[in-house]
Amino acid sequence: MPATWGVEKAKSGRAACKKCKEKIQKDELRWIKSTENEKFGIMKAYQHIGCLMYPKRGEGFELSDVEGLDDLSPSERKTAKEAYEDAKSNTGKKRTKADVKKEDGDVKEEKGKKSSKKAKKESGVKVEKKESKKRQKFGIDLEEESDDVVAKYKKMNVSELKDYLRANKQLLKGTKSDLVTRCVDGEKNGRLLPCSGCGHGKLELTEHNTVQCSGYFDESVGQRVNCRFTAPVEEAGRGKWLTPEEAEEENKDKSASAKGEAAAATLSKSDLKKVEAAFKSLPEDATPRDKAIKLVKVSKQMDLAIPDDEAKALQRAGQAVMASQNDDDDYDLMVAFKDMLGEFGTAAAAKAAAKAEEENRPKARCEDNTKIANLIDELAVLEAKAKEGTDWERKVVALKLAVSAIRGATFKITSGKEVSKANSKKKLTNVGARTGEKIDEILSTGSLERVEELRAMDERGDFA
Ligand SMILES: [Zn+2]
Ligand SMILES: [Zn+2]
Repeated sequence: MPATWGVEKAKSGRAACKKCKEKIQKDELRWIKSTENEKFGIMKAYQHIGCLMYPKRGEGFELSDVEGLDDLSPSERKTAKEAYEDAKSNTGKKRTKADVKKEDGDVKEEKGKKSSKKAKKESGVKVEKKESKKRQKFGIDLEEESDDVVAKYKKMNVSELKDYLRANKQLLKGTKSDLVTRCVDGEKNGRLLPCSGCGHGKLELTEHNTVQCSGYFDESVGQRVNCRFTAPVEEAGRGKWLTPEEAEEENKDKSASAKGEAAAATLSKSDLKKVEAAFKSLPEDATPRDKAIKLVKVSKQMDLAIPDDEAKALQRAGQAVMASQNDDDDYDLMVAFKDMLGEFGTAAAAKAAAKAEEENRPKARCEDNTKIANLIDELAVLEAKAKEGTDWERKVVALKLAVSAIRGATFKITSGKEVSKANSKKKLTNVGARTGEKIDEILSTGSLERVEELRAMDERGDFA
C-alpha cells in the first residue's frame, strides 16, 4: 500500500517532526504521512509544513491528492502549496562533486584519494547545516554581506541591537543573530505590531513562516496571559520601523497629551471662568462637605463623566476637596475641579475614548468571528472592573485566552458547542464549555446579557 498524505493544524503539541525532530506546536500546520503496516495497522508520521521530505521517485504524490487541504484557510493553503513545491523541486537533485565544491568555497584542493573523501564528507555536512540554518533564520540570509541592511545590523553590538528592538517594541530574547534577524526583518518589512489575538503580546517569528504570540503581563489581573496565537507571517500587522531617536520623539508627544492636560483642553476659558464664579458664590462659612456638594454640582454642569451614583460622586469630590488644601488651611476648589476633570474627563471625551477602544480591537482572522471575539473581550474587561467573587482573576484570564483562540480561528464559528466540546473536530484551545455557552448566546441573541448588566453598572459608576 502506498502512503497517503494529508495536511492539518496539529491537534496537540505532542508529536515530533520526522525531519527536524522538534515538537510540532498545537495548531501549527503539519503534513501527515499515513502508511499501512501489517502488524500495526495505519501508522502516522508528521512533519512541519516547512520540513516536508518529498518522497523519492516513484513514491511522489500530487498536491490535489492531499487530504485536508480544503479545510485550510486560503493563506494556510498557500503556505502548504509553497512548501510542497519547494520540497518537490529540491528532491532527487543529487549534488555532484563540483556542486559541493561550489557551495563550499573553503574546500581545500584535493590532494589524494583519502583527503578528497574526507573533504567531501566534511563539506557535505556543512552544506546541510547551512540549509537548516537558513530555514531557521526566516528567509533572511545573514551571510549576505552585500545586503546593506544586513551589514548595518551585523555591525552593531547586542546592546545597540536591543535599543532598536526596544524602540520598536519587539522581543529582546535570543542569540545575537536572532536579534539581527529581527532588526533586518523589521527594517525591511516594518515592525511587527502587537498580537492580534490578545491585542498585547509581542510576536515571535518562527522558522515555519508563522508568527506566534509570546504572551503578556496583564495589569488588570496582575498575571501573565499565556496567549499562543499563531498566524501566517503575511497576516501579521506591520508598522513603521523606528530608530531609537524617532521612538523617543514619539513618546514625548504622547506624554505631552497626558490625561489631565488633554481633559483640561476640552473645556473653554469661558467654561473655566464659570466654574470659578460658581465656587465664589459659596458662603464664607461653607464646610468641606458643602464644598464637595458644590464640586459635584459644578462637575455635572460641565458635563464631567462622574459616577451617576450620588454617594460615590460625593465621596470622590470630598477626596478632591481635601487634597486641594493649601498651606493656609484653605481649599483651592479650582485645583479640586481639575483633579476631577483629570480623573473623569468630560462625557464627550469618555465617549470618544470608548469608541476608540472599540475600534482598536483587533479583527479576527475569520472576519465573521470578530463580533463574538469583541463581545467576550469586552466581558473580560468589565469582569476585571467588577472583581466579583474570589476567583475573578482566573475567570478573566480564561476569557482573554478564549478571545485569542476565537480571533485565531480560520473558520466561521457557527456553534459554541462545536468549538468547545473536547472531542469535537473544531475544538479550539482554551475555549471551554462556559465560553461555548457564551458564543451560543451571542449567535442566537446578538449580545450577552452579562455584558449588558456590567455595562449598566459601569455607567452607573459602580466600579469607580
Ligand atoms: Zn520540522
Ligand atoms: Zn497574543
